[in-house]
Amino acid sequence: MEIINRRQRMASVARKLRREEDKTIGLVPTMGALHEGHLSLVREARRMCDVVIVSVFVNPTQFGPAEDFTRYPRDLTGDTTKLADYNVDYIFAPPVEEIYPKGFATYVSVENLSEPMEGVARPGHFRGVATVLTVLFNAIRPDFAFFGQKDAQQTLVVKRLVRDLAFDIEVVVLPTVREQTGLALSSRNAYLSDEQRKAAAVLYRGLSQAREVYLEGERNAKRLAETVRAQVDAEPLARLEYVGVVDAETMEKYDRLPEDRPVLIAIAAHVGKTRLIDNIVIQPARPKSGATGRLTLPEGA
Ligand code: AMP
Repeated sequence: MEIINRRQRMASVARKLRREEDKTIGLVPTMGALHEGHLSLVREARRMCDVVIVSVFVNPTQFGPAEDFTRYPRDLTGDTTKLADYNVDYIFAPPVEEIYPKGFATYVSVENLSEPMEGVARPGHFRGVATVLTVLFNAIRPDFAFFGQKDAQQTLVVKRLVRDLAFDIEVVVLPTVREQTGLALSSRNAYLSDEQRKAAAVLYRGLSQAREVYLEGERNAKRLAETVRAQVDAEPLARLEYVGVVDAETMEKYDRLPEDRPVLIAIAAHVGKTRLIDNIVIQPARPKSGATGRLTLPEGA
């Protein structure tokens, strides 16, 4: 395993792998402080691709001015040990100037999909995400890029970015990895005290409750959102920021959910000073046009 810090070096290694060795390249973009959620992506990349590259880069442009960029957990030594265990070929861990050289002035915005939910709460966030991914995709030109369902809106933004800018990349989305309590793994969980961590399980309890209510036949989006809100409000350590009930592919808002479309229920909440997000997707009981339908995705999806 080699750790690469320079963008030029990363690009020339990837070019050689592609051209001279005809290897398929899988990229797992991360901000480091790796946990089992990240490692599930690495495992699948290892299974699908000849060469696995994991980028570790805390991307300043996706953080707002009042957010946790400077105190975001960083542990390249620990990350390196974990990635060596997974037989990763390259870690790309550039300093900020390698991604954003002096005078950097070009940004990528994915309109519409970036605007609701996280887009309201974190203006400019997805512009930062789309921009850094464009730089990574152009430097590495992977065949596959791996993302977690944990960041549901991000997966939609990335798919649209890849389609619209004609990147020759297959986007692979993998299920959310959770603790026993249901709490979605996140690097930001490191900020939580034991008591807060227990309380944070309320996010997934709220989502699961909404799924139950949906399966009992409720199709009123507001009522499903209220189900989540009631659970979260009952936890004194948690403060709900938003709950969105939207189309899982288009993020379209509905008053009444259609029977033939997957539904995304996404939530952001603060537990103490820590901001957490989570979501579930409910697959339609009656999907359109002969597709085989399942009632729900497997646990954690
Ligand atoms: P991050 O380091 O937070 O930017 O995350 C890097 C990638 O890991 C993103 O595609 C995330 O969606 C994914 N990821 C983070 N947490 C989880 C999780 N609990 N389960 C699955 N994927 C995750």
